[in-house]
Amino acid sequence: RGWTAVQVAEEAVVDLPGRSPRIGGSIGFAIFPDDAEDRDTLINNADLAVHRVKVSGGGKTCRYERAMDEAERARRALANDIPRAMEDGEFFLHYQPQYSVASGEITGYEALIRWQHPKKGAVSPADFIPIAEKYGLIGALGDWVLETACSEARDHVMDGRIAVNLSAVQLADPRFVDRLKAILVRTGMSPAKLELEVTETAIIADKMRALHVLRQIRALGITLAIDDFGTGYSSLDTLQSFPFDKIKLDRGFISELASSDRALAIVRAVLALGRSFGIPVLAEGIEDAGQLEILRHEGCQEVQGFFLGRPARWEDAVRLGKVAAPRARRA
Ligand code: C2E
Ligand code: MG
Ligand code: MG
Repeated sequence: RGWTAVQVAEEAVVDLPGRSPRIGGSIGFAIFPDDAEDRDTLINNADLAVHRVKVSGGGKTCRYERAMDEAERARRALANDIPRAMEDGEFFLHYQPQYSVASGEITGYEALIRWQHPKKGAVSPADFIPIAEKYGLIGALGDWVLETACSEARDHVMDGRIAVNLSAVQLADPRFVDRLKAILVRTGMSPAKLELEVTETAIIADKMRALHVLRQIRALGITLAIDDFGTGYSSLDTLQSFPFDKIKLDRGFISELASSDRALAIVRAVLALGRSFGIPVLAEGIEDAGQLEILRHEGCQEVQGFFLGRPARWEDAVRLGKVAAPRARRA
């Protein structure tokens, strides 16, 4: 009686020369006997509580609640379903066109995974990718995405690249580059037509290792884009550490563009940064003509978004992408 299980998670300690390191922590706890009746369950429940703190940004204290169990059970059930779904062919790719603002030409397509679940319907990658990462399934799923994107695109895209999203976990896998090479060989895809999109979180977790892998990928002739730029917490440091080929400005700034001077200031600053580095900036999430006009006026090089083309099956993406092309060019 009165026993409490406490789980503590440390946060990454960022060691910058000349600055004091920031140390953070997250605490989750469960109290006997209300939250669990035996030792193992008590500790497990404190673990669920600390996990909740971590996913919501960390730095807080949280007591276990029964709802966490259910959420965790649902995640685990979805994870268990992924290998079966791969076998049953429930995953497929959508492609979304990317455009040059100056010429209106399509510069490439981003491959986005889709899951048509027999009972749950369409499951969003924003939901199942983190689960696949957590349960060690992203390696197989990520390979499948690469292999499928390379073979679907190989014969079709004469100009432009296919951009594929990479998860932090894939980047941390020491065998990833070998598998990537094997996929290029198997599909006959030209590395020059492949772009990989990585987010900053992928790099921050283990920076030295990630930079090493990025250099190996680059050496194959594949280009690299930094995705969701501006949402990480050390964007500028990441850009300084690795010479990316493209900056993908997060759509959060674009949606605020018309209403917020601050968003506009940030967009301008990132475009200036891209110019100084000599790398193009692609703005994500263009949803209307007004946003496109502002970006054109500010000198943004590339755009992608529902206004110009929604993600769709390969043939539809190509057909509809061409229809929207003049819109991207129009001044
Ligand atoms: P992301 O890489 O930033 O992809 C862009 C997301 O924005 C896509 O969501 C796309 O459908 C959506 N989007 C595009 N244009 C617009 C727009 O105009 N307005 C709005 N509101 N949204 C727009 P999606 O397909 O749901 O993917 C979400 C995230 O899941 C992706 O963000 C990416 O991080 C991840 N993801 C998707 N496919 C894969 C994959 O094959 N592998 C990995 N590791 N992650 C993936
Ligand atoms: Mg992306
Ligand atoms: Mg993005």
